[in-house]
Amino acid sequence: MAEVVCFGELLVDLVSEAKDVSLGDAGGFLKAPGGAPANVAAGLSRLDTPASFVGQVGNDPFGRWLRDVLRQERVDVSYLGQSPHARTTLAFVATRGDRRKDVCFYRNPGADAELSSADLDFAMFEGARLFHCGGVSLSQSPCREAQMVAARVAKERSLLVSFDPNWRPSLWGDHDEARWVLWEMVALSDIVKVADEEWEFFTGTTDLAEGATKIRAVGPQLVIVTLGAQGAYFNCVAGQGTVEGFPSQVVDTLGAGDSFMAGLLHQLVAQPTLQNSLNPTQLGKVLRFANACGALTTQKAGAIPALPTRDEVCQFMGHHS
Ligand code: ADP
Repeated sequence: MAEVVCFGELLVDLVSEAKDVSLGDAGGFLKAPGGAPANVAAGLSRLDTPASFVGQVGNDPFGRWLRDVLRQERVDVSYLGQSPHARTTLAFVATRGDRRKDVCFYRNPGADAELSSADLDFAMFEGARLFHCGGVSLSQSPCREAQMVAARVAKERSLLVSFDPNWRPSLWGDHDEARWVLWEMVALSDIVKVADEEWEFFTGTTDLAEGATKIRAVGPQLVIVTLGAQGAYFNCVAGQGTVEGFPSQVVDTLGAGDSFMAGLLHQLVAQPTLQNSLNPTQLGKVLRFANACGALTTQKAGAIPALPTRDEVCQFMGHHS
């Protein structure tokens, strides 16, 4: 039975073979499994935390391939649907010289966004402790409503709710509406993780403490900001702080944030309650582990292939103690 239910997009990433380029300047592209919540599910599974993935792919070779990839990662795909009419979503990805990602989605319509609340089977929550989701699946209906319904039911059933806004400007027509929808989801969440490059758009400030206070004011108990090579920042009622990252020989940063998220959730669900983790000492340990997951993922190409096992993370932390 899955301890963590991950909800959202599972899609094909077509990743630029050339590094430090924008999408327009990219040449060839390599096919890779993608979708942030699916990466998190695979990351948890590698760390031996049972995870399931809820979403939708198309009835096409890409959808079948993605299902097989997750199955091989020991992710429970019992609640992964197949659209009878929409194709599996594609996303072209390039990482520019300034670390920013250039992403272009092909969803006309995309099977991931066609998942509706009528497709949900709440048996998916049996035995689970945490529901994790992101912002990409909020950008279109009916998936937006399906995610809100799933998060509300998860809360009613006393699961923790975790959210990564994963801001992708090109997916949203109206950015003010986007902020409104993302914040509606924040209000349903216990844990919110944001990347530093999204922070100002998301919170309206460059100041971490000020933005985190705004987020906690609407409900979440724990706010985490990832800072690339610098590590991560935490903010909860008992205090705030920064936990340094590990030195890394970077091959590519794809999936680093999702691997970090998997490390974070793996550590949080290992405790009987979230309260047990909400103090600076414990969060220092939790984020050290999550930073190690992120750093290890930067050392190999791709997202899912670069996700570490628990043994690899422990060994890596041992070398750097
Ligand atoms: P995202 O991939 O969502 O943009 P970040 O780039 O902030 O997120 O990376 C997520 C986490 O991965 C960081 O908090 C850090 O732990 C780790 N990480 C990312 N880049 C590096 C790096 N160059 N060196 C070491 N650790 C890194």
